[in-house]
Amino acid sequence: MINLILFGPPGSGKGTQASTIVSKFGLTHISTGDLFRYEIGNSTPLGLKAKAYMDKGELVPDEVTIGMLENKLNSTPNDKGYIFDGFPRTIPQAEALDTLLDSRGTKITHLIALDVDDEEIVKRLLNRGKTSGRPDDQNEEVIRRRIVEYLDKTSPVYEFYEKTGLSQKIDGIGSLDEIFNRIYDALH
Ligand code: ADP
Repeated sequence: MINLILFGPPGSGKGTQASTIVSKFGLTHISTGDLFRYEIGNSTPLGLKAKAYMDKGELVPDEVTIGMLENKLNSTPNDKGYIFDGFPRTIPQAEALDTLLDSRGTKITHLIALDVDDEEIVKRLLNRGKTSGRPDDQNEEVIRRRIVEYLDKTSPVYEFYEKTGLSQKIDGIGSLDEIFNRIYDALH
């Protein structure tokens, strides 16, 4: 069983690689960013709450995010394992995830971090913003705010899982195939 956290700053290619991993390994993909955008699209109370933070480039509060993730786990059968994309993004989220998986008799097996430098991220996200329709990709100030949130609150999650030897870093620059092959090697 593989339960993978695909880790890295915004725009590091987590979503793109997650789709390939899902098609090759049959894992269940859970992206908290996609879940929030779905809620926003349906104008739910949760979506409206999340949108206020996302539009500014800030993290959505932990209790909101963890509650949503728990609902998703409850409604998603897990045969081959999960790939978590964009979660956990804080230490409390990592602790909550470990507890939720533990109560289901499973645990995180790998954390793979895609390493991409800040200027490349800003370039990629502004470029994605031209076609993604995502407001948070269309404003450089919001993009830089997301990078600061990542450095402050999310990067410690790498060290959290490094303590148990689960964290690995790979180069996130290259062709999609090259990066997938690095992930494949890290998983084996
Ligand atoms: P990216 O990786 O490009 O930032 P995401 O879709 O993962 O894209 O996230 C978009 C936004 O959704 C984040 O900037 C944040 O506001 C919110 N978000 C997503 N996942 C989380 C999370 N685990 N905790 C808090 N906020 C989150």
